[in-house]
Amino acid sequence: MVKTTKIDRKHWEAICDHCGKCCLIKLEDEDSGEIYYTNIICRYYDTDQNLCTIYEKRREIVPACIQLDEENVNQIPWMPKTCAYRRLFDPNYQPVSPCRLKGKVISEDMVDPADYENHLINQEDL
Ligand code: SF4
Ligand code: SF4
Repeated sequence: MVKTTKIDRKHWEAICDHCGKCCLIKLEDEDSGEIYYTNIICRYYDTDQNLCTIYEKRREIVPACIQLDEENVNQIPWMPKTCAYRRLFDPNYQPVSPCRLKGKVISEDMVDPADYENHLINQEDL
């Protein structure tokens, strides 16, 4: 079956401003289900280039990495409030200058998972 979308893949990809916020590790409160951002970023995100270094293979290498599309982008509760895709479904979306994460985040390679809770941040602070 061929899946059709209103926006072709090339234009879809062009919407992303490569802020990288969706590549930050998030923690979920087991009791409340609340999602908290950390300043820890996926090991494959290059903060010099503001790019995923394994983009074409990311779903194979990082199964938890979600492929955004027109159907799910509005359904993912933890998507950053400033994500450029919000302009597609949020009439009140105000474009913001893309944040750059260099110097503000730390690679997951550098943090012991037991220490993740000490890296909680407010996503608005980035
Ligand atoms: S694999 Fe790439 S796109 Fe996925 S979270 Fe990591 S850096 Fe981001
Ligand atoms: S948060 Fe949105 S705009 Fe930023 S990198 Fe992720 S998909 Fe792209």
